[in-house]
Amino acid sequence: MDNNRNFEKYADLIVNIGLGLHAGDKLNIRMSEHSLPLARLVAKKAFQKGVSDVRLDFSDDTITLDRYLNAPDDAFTSYPEYQVDFSENLFKDNYHVLNLFAPNPDLLKPADPARIAQWQKVAGKAVKRIQHYTMQNEVKWCVTAVACPAWAAAAFPELTEDEAMQKLWDNIFMATRVDQPDPVAAWEEHDLNLKAHRNFLNEARFDRVHYQGPGTDLVVGLAKNHIWEGGSGFSQKGDRFFPNIPTEEVFSMPDADRVDGTLRATMPLSVRGQIVDKFHFTFKDGKVVDYDAEVGKQILDDLLDMDEGAKHLGEIALVADNSPISNTGILFKNTLFDENASCHFALGAAYSENLEGATERTEEENRKLGMNNSLIHVDFMVGSKDVTVTGIKEDGTEIVLLKDGDWQI
Ligand code: ZN
Ligand code: ZN
Repeated sequence: MDNNRNFEKYADLIVNIGLGLHAGDKLNIRMSEHSLPLARLVAKKAFQKGVSDVRLDFSDDTITLDRYLNAPDDAFTSYPEYQVDFSENLFKDNYHVLNLFAPNPDLLKPADPARIAQWQKVAGKAVKRIQHYTMQNEVKWCVTAVACPAWAAAAFPELTEDEAMQKLWDNIFMATRVDQPDPVAAWEEHDLNLKAHRNFLNEARFDRVHYQGPGTDLVVGLAKNHIWEGGSGFSQKGDRFFPNIPTEEVFSMPDADRVDGTLRATMPLSVRGQIVDKFHFTFKDGKVVDYDAEVGKQILDDLLDMDEGAKHLGEIALVADNSPISNTGILFKNTLFDENASCHFALGAAYSENLEGATERTEEENRKLGMNNSLIHVDFMVGSKDVTVTGIKEDGTEIVLLKDGDWQI
């Protein structure tokens, strides 16, 4: 495949579809060394659209890991307030956020899990007061990814570095529809399909959703007045954007207190540079009351221990097995890609766009309506060809939504 031509198309897609940038907008790109070629293309196209400034937030994997391995203990006890103020000022000054990360799924394997958990807690608490800018779509934001050798090696351990990088890029281009002749048109059509499923689910007004499969028998209550979303979203100023590229999900808000049963994850979870695998949860009245993992249990311990909301669900997402990502048949070891190949849930914070009127109420008022809040939002995969998903209405009417990996609606 022609990488240069695809980079151009990828940058076009990010600027026009991902962030819908136009005159008056400013852009904040979060990136690493591997993102620089694409960041430069995105910046050029953004300026051509009338964007007046592009700010780079650079971070480096080697330095991130070295900090965990070698910095003194007090490096992990406080997060500078001025840093949070600075980020808030960018949001207020009409900066929109592009995440262009090249994630290494194994980055933090050598680091002390207690240190990682402590820092996540400290940093999470510090930035909580500015979470609403993105969680409530006050600004436009888009998460996408670029390949890097460490990620390529984790996804394709059997290949040489060059082969693995090429294969990863080819699959990123396929999953993001960048390989299609007109990716922007392909995304417009894709958006219409997602919206059709979203509209069906919103009109059906299901009370709860039942998951049945190997190791899984779970009933997830939906928050009353929940809203299903999928594909493009709108910023509070009314601009259209896509929070994730790729995206294949329609998602809504579970009632944080009405989840009962057991579910088995169908894919490993890559979280904080570490892998959790072969794990399951049991819920009672919305709360995780039992869990285990054959790999990375300590990571789950730390996650669930973050706060009360970490033990409850904040997102329910339906994904057909038949999508460009799923059809690659690849385990990317990256949540952005793997979650879009499979039905998933998230432990932790819910999105206010999934509940009618959520932005007009306080956190406590919303929590009473079943909207979870937490410092974390961690997606894990529960879908497969063997999992049947059924919507159940308040009067007991059942409609099969997904079976054998495909939409039934
Ligand atoms: Zn999701
Ligand atoms: Zn999620």
